Amino acid sequence: MPGLLVYVDHDEGELSPQSLGVLAKAASLGGEVTAFVAGSGVDDSWAGSLGGHGAAKVLLADDPALEGGLSQPIVDAIEASAREADAVLFGAGVVSADVAAGLAARIGAGIACESTEIALADGGVVATRPALGDTVMVESGFRGTGIVLARANAFPVNESPSGTAPVERVAVEVKPWSQAARPAGREAAEAAGVDITEAEILVAVGRGMGGPENVPLVEELAKAIGGEVAATRAVVDAGWVPYAMQVGQTGKTVSPKLYIACGVSGAIQHKVGMANAGTIVAINKDPNAPIHEFADVSVIGDALTIVPKLTEALRSR
Ligand SMILES: Cc1cc2nc3c(=O)[nH]c(=O)nc-3n(C[C@H](O)[C@H](O)[C@H](O)COP(=O)(O)OP(=O)(O)OC[C@H]3O[C@@H](n4cnc5c(N)ncnc54)[C@H](O)[C@@H]3O)c2cc1C
Repeated sequence: MPGLLVYVDHDEGELSPQSLGVLAKAASLGGEVTAFVAGSGVDDSWAGSLGGHGAAKVLLADDPALEGGLSQPIVDAIEASAREADAVLFGAGVVSADVAAGLAARIGAGIACESTEIALADGGVVATRPALGDTVMVESGFRGTGIVLARANAFPVNESPSGTAPVERVAVEVKPWSQAARPAGREAAEAAGVDITEAEILVAVGRGMGGPENVPLVEELAKAIGGEVAATRAVVDAGWVPYAMQVGQTGKTVSPKLYIACGVSGAIQHKVGMANAGTIVAINKDPNAPIHEFADVSVIGDALTIVPKLTEALRSR
């Protein structure tokens, strides 16, 4: 069993769900997984709670230089532990991606980004990731230490964590040049409506809905079922709905429990953003549409008729 080190990102006391998902995935592979946390004034019992998410041990780098969440000091802090690991795994995220890239350069390791699956084979880690515009899936193995950066929402978080892990504080030596940059301040991003990546139920509008005048049919269905509206790039490009709703390669990656696709063809660039949904329902009049190949439930018919009927049926319940 290779030694797996999982970098766990956090912000204002909140552990990153992306990191926790990767930690749970690593633990599911068997063997002992070590989590790595970096920060300033970190509480041991808080770090130890990662045991509930699959860590057998937590390495804690605690130093004032790690306070600002800048990636370069974190690369310094994790370097020694990473050199001892067979693979270092990261969840999606701006800081995580920066640390993963910096670490790969520092230790001369191979890196697989946007990974959607992690497995063990031949005594090492194999990461699966989309390539060539998401048209093919590639399996990458590593010579020496491997670095794997997961795609957003690729791995679910352990929803009922229990237990703690022993915490070991590691020595931190931050290089002088890593402290040259300092955070000047923080500002919250302007709210852009609902975050579809967090929704448990999504109803997606595709070009098959005919035009922007029919988007309310999908909105009504979403409301009736307690979900949010998502969209394909075709309808976003046509200006029916804002970009924040776009799912896919150049949009968001979502993993709701239920994804109802209305008039969506299921192009590969859309599929890569929603294939991790729990149950996929496709309403499409073309029996040969690609979406039927990966939908759990296929409804062949006119979405303009079926969607309002479904809304009515849900409301009457
Ligand atoms: C580099 C690149 C990146 C891309 N990124 C993304 C991305 O992030 N997200 C994304 O979604 N796409 C993306 N695309 C575009 C993608 O290739 C598809 O063009 C797009 O997903 C198609 O959207 P659609 O399914 O809404 O439309 P269409 O492909 O036009 O499909 C409409 C579907 O509706 C069905 N239909 C028509 N009328 C009805 C009706 N009355 N009732 C029921 N069904 C009906 C049709 O049978 C058809 O299957 C990208 C493309 C490229 C090249």
